[in-house]
Amino acid sequence: MSTANAIAAPSATDPLVRTTIERRDVGPRDVLIEIRYAGICHSDIHTVRGEWGEVPYPLTVGHEIAGQVTEVGAEVTKHAVGDRVGVGCMVNSCRECENCKAGQEQYCLRGNTQTYAGIDRDGSVTQGGYSTHVVVDEDFVLRLPESIPYEKVAPLLCAGITTYSPLSHWNAGPGRKVAVVGMGGLGHVAVKIAVAMGAEVTVLSQTLSKKDDGLAFGAREYHATKDAATFEALKNSFDLIINTVSAPIDMAAYLGLLRLDGTLVSVGAPPQPLPVPVFALFGNRRSFAGSSIGGIAETQEMLDFCAERGIAPEVEVIDAGAVNEAYERVLKSDVRYRFVIDINSLR
Ligand code: NAP
Ligand code: ZN
Ligand code: ZN
Repeated sequence: MSTANAIAAPSATDPLVRTTIERRDVGPRDVLIEIRYAGICHSDIHTVRGEWGEVPYPLTVGHEIAGQVTEVGAEVTKHAVGDRVGVGCMVNSCRECENCKAGQEQYCLRGNTQTYAGIDRDGSVTQGGYSTHVVVDEDFVLRLPESIPYEKVAPLLCAGITTYSPLSHWNAGPGRKVAVVGMGGLGHVAVKIAVAMGAEVTVLSQTLSKKDDGLAFGAREYHATKDAATFEALKNSFDLIINTVSAPIDMAAYLGLLRLDGTLVSVGAPPQPLPVPVFALFGNRRSFAGSSIGGIAETQEMLDFCAERGIAPEVEVIDAGAVNEAYERVLKSDVRYRFVIDINSLR
């Protein structure tokens, strides 16, 4: 065992505090990673505040991890000491079920092992990336492209793959009209990736306050959802809508924006249900779907795609001491566009 400096949530209501956590010894197929930067995902906030259910406190969250390999187990072949690597939302899966065999480990039928608040193979609770180092099975460690700096590549490990996967699955590309709802951490990356895939992208944000940024990211149009006229003007418009909102949205209103055979995919994960009026699906033979992160091979594909296309998240780097304040700003949609913790501030 080794000890890592970390930030942990003591309860659903207390602020996060500095602490230490234990990391397992480096096993034959493990990689020890010295973490450089860790992104703050809204899922971290839903989790530590207990919005998604029971939490094994104290808990260290963080599943957008970028760092460098400092030790490898005797049987490791995919990574070497000194490599730039990343870890996303899962650190293991059964590897035997049909979904794992199809490279869709995120949908492991026995449940993948989440990077934090999961049960590790030694029975301990997994602890996330707001910490100085982590030990992970080599198969769940990604190679980071040289061209994207650590602090900017970190958010791709969750925000990047979570939006790339549905955009790719539902064929965002030339001739397809894609709307992105909510331009926060996931949303702004979704805009950049969908534009790079060749789709015609529209941002649907609460207000027009980030319009210049959205257009700079490549969106053709940008509309305010607080303005009821938006829903009238854009009726029957989109082939694909990616909903990244962390709170419930008016499903009937958004489904009405889909054209024939269009799909609304929710990656946003509010704790409350999203009630779907069935008649909103009948018109235009619409679909409502969900999507969870992406598989390991697809995550590598996304990292390489972003490097090739020169795509990187917009980040605001903070010290560990500013995490609680950053959480408050995320909750107010006051984020441009991902907070990333400089883990050196924990050393
Ligand atoms: P975020 O940075 O807070 O972005 C969410 C955006 O949604 C905000 O920036 C805001 O955009 C909009 N929004 C927030 N509250 C709203 C409200 N009450 N009504 C309408 N719009 C609102 O969060 P994130 O890190 O991108 O995560 C977004 C959601 O995805 C979270 O629920 C998270 O748990 C979930 N998630 C899911 C997966 C998955 O695998 N499916 C993976 C990662 C995250 P505007 O200011 O532009 O309106
Ligand atoms: Zn996340
Ligand atoms: Zn499996």
